[in-house]
Amino acid sequence: MEKDSFAAKQFLRIKDLEEKNAFGLVGTYLLDYNKKIVYGDRTLCKIYGLEYRKDGIPLDEFQSKISIEDLEAAKALREKHINDKQAYEIEYRVEIRPGEFSWVMAKARAEVVDGNILYEGIVIDITKRKDAEFALSQQTKLMQTITDNASSALFLMDAKGFCTFMNPAAEAMFGYSYEEIKARPLHDLVHHHYPDGREYPINECPLDAALRNNVELRAKEDLFFHKDGYPLFVRCAVSPVFENGLPVATVIEVQDITPQKNFEKILQEQAEHLSILNTVGQTISEDLDLQNILQKVTDATTKLTGAAFGAFFYNVIDARGESFMLYTLSGAPREAFDKFGMPRNTAVFHTTFSGEGVSRVDDIRKDRRYGKNSPHQGMPKGHLPVVSYLAVPVISKSGKVIGGLFFGHPEPAMFTQIHEDLVMGVASQAAIALDNAKLYEEVKLLNAKKDEFIGLASHELKTPLTSITGYLQLLQRSETSEVNKNFIKKTIEKVDKLTSLVNDLLDVSKIEAGKLQLHLENFDFKEVLNESIEIASYSNSTHLIHLNCCKDPLIIHADRQRIEQVLINLITNAIKYSPKANTVDIEVKRIGNELTVGVRDYGIGIAKEKQANIFSRFYRVEELNPNISGLGIGLYISKEIIDRHNGKIWVESEIGQGSVFYFTLSLIQS
Ligand code: ADP
Repeated sequence: MEKDSFAAKQFLRIKDLEEKNAFGLVGTYLLDYNKKIVYGDRTLCKIYGLEYRKDGIPLDEFQSKISIEDLEAAKALREKHINDKQAYEIEYRVEIRPGEFSWVMAKARAEVVDGNILYEGIVIDITKRKDAEFALSQQTKLMQTITDNASSALFLMDAKGFCTFMNPAAEAMFGYSYEEIKARPLHDLVHHHYPDGREYPINECPLDAALRNNVELRAKEDLFFHKDGYPLFVRCAVSPVFENGLPVATVIEVQDITPQKNFEKILQEQAEHLSILNTVGQTISEDLDLQNILQKVTDATTKLTGAAFGAFFYNVIDARGESFMLYTLSGAPREAFDKFGMPRNTAVFHTTFSGEGVSRVDDIRKDRRYGKNSPHQGMPKGHLPVVSYLAVPVISKSGKVIGGLFFGHPEPAMFTQIHEDLVMGVASQAAIALDNAKLYEEVKLLNAKKDEFIGLASHELKTPLTSITGYLQLLQRSETSEVNKNFIKKTIEKVDKLTSLVNDLLDVSKIEAGKLQLHLENFDFKEVLNESIEIASYSNSTHLIHLNCCKDPLIIHADRQRIEQVLINLITNAIKYSPKANTVDIEVKRIGNELTVGVRDYGIGIAKEKQANIFSRFYRVEELNPNISGLGIGLYISKEIIDRHNGKIWVESEIGQGSVFYFTLSLIQS
């Protein structure tokens, strides 16, 4: 082969490449087309899996090695170039041994020498390259299949933040075509706002910074946006890609977790609803204050409905029988409402206040009942912006509409059946609580009337009693028979008893009116104690009263008469409620600056569950003492007196074992 022939040049170039390991074997050949003989070198024969023959190899035998699929194309190409001296090249498969193929590239050129057609060419074994190409194409196909079928959206973002690839899932998830998305930075298209509604500048975006800072982000939850503007809760993974140490791209995988998030939100909302319902139910049933109940119900239902503001209008009838409306607000300041006065009997409100039923309107401005009334023809100017509207009547057990709960939202269609049901649930609980509060108000009113009567009656009784006592004392001093004197003495005793009852009743009304006055002075408690024991002993012949007390004086700063009143009351009770016993023990203890007095009897005792009640007004434990008379106010007055002296009063007792009544008072430092 000549050094500058085409084949030689090609050969040298290829050989060079071969040495660089770019190609496999390279062989050369000469084809005598007239004789149909191929003269190939040893390498060529090796490439074709043929024995080397110095005299050449018949073309047919040579061609038999070319795979059937490629042979015709190879022949056609050779024929095509038979006269034009143009170099041509072709790739085809060679069956070296049965079933074993390799890929070759043949480069050749034809020449006519003395009427003989000669082809000279080289053949390169390109199996390695073909295998690599095949593997690559397989890999690409596989990648394509994976990205096409992935349920996650996949984006490839270049170093400038522009999208260079997106898969079908990404198109479906975000609504953009690739043409649209590649035009602007990806961040500006799908990630432009923070979840709280603020604009999201690209320089604050960690996804964008991932490549710059070479950080991977895993399972990052975020909010992306669809082309139509609605938000998508997503979980994304972000991986920067480097080539030769240079940042080239960011792979972003995005999963739409909106359904999951919505589900979580529903669960959370339901838990919140339950807890609100639970607390509101409990607190309003415990509350008897009207305004408190109204406020709690308004707050709870406003929260439950997600309303921007809620109001509870409530019909009240006052003591004079006049009807007026109370209301509470949630989510809006009172000023926002005050200037509009109470809701009037317009078509919109009529549905609620007549008890017809619930009104739930997606857009009140489009409701047929709306805007029918002068002067406003709709909402007055400056009214809270109500678009979504929900109103639920609150109906008492008697069937009377006692009020209505109203909710508003500036956006349309914010209230659903669920909200309606929730409010109706609370409304029925509220109705019960309000009925109770009303009953309680009525009881309070009756009580006040009763107190007023007791005050008046005892006052009226006191004047004639004082006169009777005076006349009796005059009579006592006048000359009369022994029998009469005895009658007069008995009458005076009974009148004294009556006077003390009337005084007790007067004390009760004074306490109720907050007018029980104390006259404080310093005195020795022991003196009062001894006097009280003396008075109690004087009017009783059944019991002996023992006193166990220290010798030193016990100086207190108190109302002498009132303390005596407490002592006499406790001692008299001890005697009265121990009809079968004959002693009462009084013990006085001093601990530090505190005095504790215990009055012990051995009588009928008091059941544990009743002990807290006996200090209440008019409370008596009747079943144990059906024959012992009393008004049930002595302990009530005693407790008030001790409380007012900053002391404590209590009882320890067991049925049938007797009772000990204790009280404490502070001593003056001596
Ligand atoms: P009254 O004795 O007039 O009924 P009190 O206020 O003094 O009113 O007492 C209230 C109730 O407490 C009595 O009705 C009685 O049931 C009970 N009680 C008071 N003292 C005793 C006592 N020492 N032993 C048993 N029960 C008592």
